[in-house]
Amino acid sequence: IKVRLALNALGNIRVLCRVKPVLKEDQHEEGQAVVVTTDPNNESALTVLSKGKAKNFELDKVFHPQATQEEVFQEIEPLITSCIDGYHVCIFAYGQTGSGKTYSMEGTVENPGINQRALKHLFNEIEERKDMWTYTVSVSSVEIYNEVLRYCILPLYHAKIYGGCHLNHIKKVTRKNRITFGTQMNQHSSRSHALLTVTVLVMSSPSKSKLNLVDLAGSERVWKSGAEGERLKEAQNINRSLLALGDVIQALKAHQTHIPFRNSRLTYLLQDSLGKGNKTAMVVQVSSLESNVGETLCSLKFAQRVC
Ligand code: ADP
Ligand code: MG
Repeated sequence: IKVRLALNALGNIRVLCRVKPVLKEDQHEEGQAVVVTTDPNNESALTVLSKGKAKNFELDKVFHPQATQEEVFQEIEPLITSCIDGYHVCIFAYGQTGSGKTYSMEGTVENPGINQRALKHLFNEIEERKDMWTYTVSVSSVEIYNEVLRYCILPLYHAKIYGGCHLNHIKKVTRKNRITFGTQMNQHSSRSHALLTVTVLVMSSPSKSKLNLVDLAGSERVWKSGAEGERLKEAQNINRSLLALGDVIQALKAHQTHIPFRNSRLTYLLQDSLGKGNKTAMVVQVSSLESNVGETLCSLKFAQRVC
């Protein structure tokens, strides 16, 4: 009961912000100013310096640039546990291209991200409960590009857990997935939404829950830079679907009776996972460099809207 209360206390939608560290390759202009600062005494606060003015933002949690993958996952972990308890869970990474969405979700071989840690946690929990429950877990991945849904290579992985230890199997699953995302989807990755869906079924019970891990398309406003043709169409579709996602989350937060799920493929696909009583976390990724301040402010405005 204690655990359940603690989980509920976190609220149904958590908005987290991760500030990307300044990497050498990001410093196109020498000595570019860092305009985003976190507050060591307040883990919800973020300040952006824009046109000589400090703008303050408050989120559920802010990760400073040196935060590790482990620290980020610690915030996500309770939601993954909820998924085994029967909740539908959605985790989103939002932000402009290059801000670290894929790093947070997939991570690297040395520093795996939320996807792999979530699967590992899920299977560890299942292992601990094996004397009482038997679960079936399946994983599928799709991408949404220009409002069209595409199943990715090896669309469905089934890992049947009959109480035994299947940790080796999980490793295989996540590694295969990494290759799929890494090579096949690279060209589209900034312009498509990538969804990894984990379905957890409890044997001999109607309980079924879904965990959706979503690496969203880049939120940058490319149409403002005079994009044309295919690029403009892509940009409009991305913009529409991200707006639709914001509208849905806002409507859910406000407990509105009508939730506009049908306005985009993304929200339509996720409608049973985003609804009432389910749990959502949005990781808003931002760059701290001056050259990105416009996009950073836009991303934080989006975060505040759904926060
Ligand atoms: P996005 O998916 O938002 O376009 P990426 O995740 O691909 O951005 O990040 C761009 C680059 O920055 C990648 O090379 C990634 O490894 C690196 N990167 C992003 N966030 C971090 C971080 N917290 N620590 C180290 N490297 C990072
Ligand atoms: Mg990416």
